[in-house]
Amino acid sequence: MGFEFTMDSFNKVLEDISKNFIFYAPRRIPGKGAFSDTDVVVYQEVEGFGQIELDEKSRFSPKEVINPITQTLFYFNENGYTEPETNNKGIIIFCRPCDANSFKRLDEIFLNNGPFKDSYYESLRRKVKIFVIECVQGFENCFCVSMGTNRFDDYDAFIRVAEDRITCDVKDNLLPAFVKHGISAEMRPDFISENAVKVAIPDQVNKTIFTHEMWREYSERCIACGRCTVVCPTCTCFTMQDIFYEDNHKCGERRRVWASCMIDGFTEVAGGHDFRPDKGMRMRFKAMHKIYDFRKRFGYNMCVGCGRCDDVCPEYISFSNCINKVSALSREVNG
Ligand code: SF4
Ligand code: SF4
Repeated sequence: MGFEFTMDSFNKVLEDISKNFIFYAPRRIPGKGAFSDTDVVVYQEVEGFGQIELDEKSRFSPKEVINPITQTLFYFNENGYTEPETNNKGIIIFCRPCDANSFKRLDEIFLNNGPFKDSYYESLRRKVKIFVIECVQGFENCFCVSMGTNRFDDYDAFIRVAEDRITCDVKDNLLPAFVKHGISAEMRPDFISENAVKVAIPDQVNKTIFTHEMWREYSERCIACGRCTVVCPTCTCFTMQDIFYEDNHKCGERRRVWASCMIDGFTEVAGGHDFRPDKGMRMRFKAMHKIYDFRKRFGYNMCVGCGRCDDVCPEYISFSNCINKVSALSREVNG
């Protein structure tokens, strides 16, 4: 159902809904960018629509709302353990179609990739409603159209912002708040149909790609900082930490903390052996996971083409170029 709002009337909708929901959206944090006097756009809690950054791609993705950077799984002492209390409120995430599509990828990894569902992820995920912000222009380095993630139809609300008006298509049981404050309006969602960056995904990946010398370039250029994986909406690797409290060593907590396949030590095992010591091997692992291994298992590509990895790499390594190289080599080898 379609509605139109002024900024004020839309904020009244949010005010009504906020009794039962927390809102997360891209938000500009002044002065907290990588360089002095620069800002950063991150996913954070917002209270009103005016706090949402609409003009710039967020540096970090919304994945951290349901897959926190650091998450305490339980507290323990010598007698047992307790899980942290959770907030009963639902979660509304305002995001672009590519990021909305990334949640399906996270679901595959945390819920459908083994005999057990990840209950910590599931307890946050089931509270989520997705409000898609229309994206018809895209941003630098985006290649969502090539990845087929420029569209997202399974939204709870779809939002278009034009000058001082907001129009929405709402599918959800939050409808009463929209009916109360909005006026009925025609609304047909629109999606970006072309990006400046285009990527060709190889249909058939020849096995020789895995040992090809193309990966050597990354051994020389990559500095293993892990930025590309931290900003990626579909990267899910984590490590575990048991923290023992200083004042009572029998008490503590178990946390899971984001990790990265691109950094030193990630594949090191007991005895000191490292399965992927070389940075080119790590790039190969990451790239082929995004456009090959995941697809073999779940039937579609993991990468959603948000371009954040290209945005943040301090060595100007382009993931979209890397995919195109794999495709060109595959075509060459397959004939
Ligand atoms: S690999 Fe790069 S472009 Fe693809 S989803 Fe991750 S950050 Fe976005
Ligand atoms: S951001 Fe660039 S330099 Fe850092 S790990 Fe990723 S590819 Fe390597």
